[in-house]
Amino acid sequence: MENNCILCSCQTKQGIKILESFICTKCVDLVSKAEVENPNYKDILFKMKKIWAEDDKGQAAKN
Ligand SMILES: [Zn+2]
Repeated sequence: MENNCILCSCQTKQGIKILESFICTKCVDLVSKAEVENPNYKDILFKMKKIWAEDDKGQAAKN
């Protein structure tokens, strides 16, 4: 089963699942190598924070 990467929207089996979200190996690599000067860095962090924020909301709704 292929997954949709939440960062680059590609479809692949190669990657990791963080909470309910899938990130492909390419983007994991990008994130791990990202430096603060990298213009993509803030965008990646923003997207990931959004995922975690949404998960918090999901948890709150359950409890
Ligand atoms: Zn990706």
